[in-house]
Amino acid sequence: MAARFGLGIDFGGTKLLAAVVDLSTGKVLGAAKKKSRAADGPDELMGRLYEVGDAALKEARVPHGDPRLVGVGVGIAGQVDAVRGVLLGTPNLSQASVELPMAARLTEHFGVPAALRNDVQIAALGEARFGAGAGAADFLCVFVGTGVGGAIVRDGHLVPGATGTAGEIGHLVVAADGRLCGCGGRGHLEAYASRTAITRALLGELKRGRPSGLRDLLPATTEDAPGGTAIRSGILAKAIAARDPLVTETILDAARYLGYGLASAVNLLNPQRVILGGGVIEAVDLLFETARDRARREALPVPGAAVEIVRAGLGDNAGVVGAALLGGGMVGA
Ligand SMILES: [Zn+2]
Repeated sequence: MAARFGLGIDFGGTKLLAAVVDLSTGKVLGAAKKKSRAADGPDELMGRLYEVGDAALKEARVPHGDPRLVGVGVGIAGQVDAVRGVLLGTPNLSQASVELPMAARLTEHFGVPAALRNDVQIAALGEARFGAGAGAADFLCVFVGTGVGGAIVRDGHLVPGATGTAGEIGHLVVAADGRLCGCGGRGHLEAYASRTAITRALLGELKRGRPSGLRDLLPATTEDAPGGTAIRSGILAKAIAARDPLVTETILDAARYLGYGLASAVNLLNPQRVILGGGVIEAVDLLFETARDRARREALPVPGAAVEIVRAGLGDNAGVVGAALLGGGMVGA
């Protein structure tokens, strides 16, 4: 069978990745990366997608019009009308809401069919086909990053829910009347276990003068980085390896809440597998292991014992691989 490639673009809260992916193997043939900051308008946003997509195509030596390129898919943080291929709102844009016909614009530029979805759902599709979801019919994917995102996969397909937001585990209530969440609600998991929440807690303690080796590991300006990226995952891992009490305590706290959230999800869905991904999960073993153990302990005995809780298999590439599969029409939703 002739080779078929998909162009996948992952537009997350802090970075913009593109890759040309072989649709039969999931192999990345060429990739490009940019930092993502909020665009001023739809044209600027589209310009960035074209630029990073073209860079990945160039890297893979696949020119526009190459018959092997069968589609382009985009995963973007925000609200998406998947059926019409329209972006409705995203934190990557300074305007609160838009009506951007993204799929049509992508087809115009790249000359192939295009599709878009929420970035977490896209990453779950990548994991389902070529990552830690392979061999599991039913699983829940949870990504810890700027927020805490989730997606439910059943028989290889996303479970969308009535309005397309099923799997939003980040907004499970884990503390009645608790911390304010980015969505406006209170006590949601995301307000306790996201990288943003971990960073906020650490910077707050440092400001209050709590002693920590973290001070020596941080660059001079750490206050204003978007998406909780002021403290890189690698720095957290280093501080934990050095047994820094503040960082260890903060991670254990986040892991405890993540475990409660996962236990609730396991009780509700009874999944065969839970896949945990995202930069902090990958870098910080303590977070993954503590959350996993807590989830098993707090869940009902039978589903808690049966569920496999594993790390994501594709790392940073989950989003671009899933997006390429979507663009190439290889996955439904
Ligand atoms: Zn929330």
